[in-house]
Amino acid sequence: MILSSRNEHKVRELAEILPGSELKALPAEVELPPETGVTFEENALIKARAARNATGEVVIADDSGLEVDLLDGRPGVYSARYAGEDATDGENLAKVLAELALADGAGPGGSGSARYVCAIALIDDSGEHLFRGTCEGRLVQDLRGDGGFGYDPAFVPDATGPDDGRTMAELDPAEKNAISHRGAAAGVLAAHLESTTG
Ligand code: IMP
Repeated sequence: MILSSRNEHKVRELAEILPGSELKALPAEVELPPETGVTFEENALIKARAARNATGEVVIADDSGLEVDLLDGRPGVYSARYAGEDATDGENLAKVLAELALADGAGPGGSGSARYVCAIALIDDSGEHLFRGTCEGRLVQDLRGDGGFGYDPAFVPDATGPDDGRTMAELDPAEKNAISHRGAAAGVLAAHLESTTG
């Protein structure tokens, strides 16, 4: 199975979550089209179709991002490029946190509820299939931890419990995978693969 992505963090995380599936990286010569969809599912399908057309193999692609409630769901599908096409993770995070701090209704210290969303598209000989996972939590302004990537240093997941204030970047990879949006979506995908291929 080929994973249609250039993001090494995601390839590593998904390979850890889907150990039995021999995940291969997308061959370097395959070009990925621009992500023009307005939903995570549309963008996952765009990436999966490009890989399927180029290789003819079973492919998966994921699209993911952060939705902040007080920002009407932004950055959403623009999570990777919220502060501009070539913006770094740090620049995207700084922009979201600055907007959240100014938002009407922001909690103590400029915090606010948010969720990570992940859509995974699978294309095999039977057609196109979509899977979705979410991870609820809140964004905080004081950045902590050096694990994970993207918005993780500011995202405190609900699933670790109300007394655990660690950010996603402070969890070890196995802890993150057990509660993450990508872990949840991959779990539904794994169950589907199990039920169809045995
Ligand atoms: P994609 O590569 O188009 O799916 O964009 C995903 C973007 O959403 C990343 O560049 C991050 O900014 C953000 N994101 C997705 N998943 C995570 C995660 O697990 N932790 C932190 N940020 C994430």
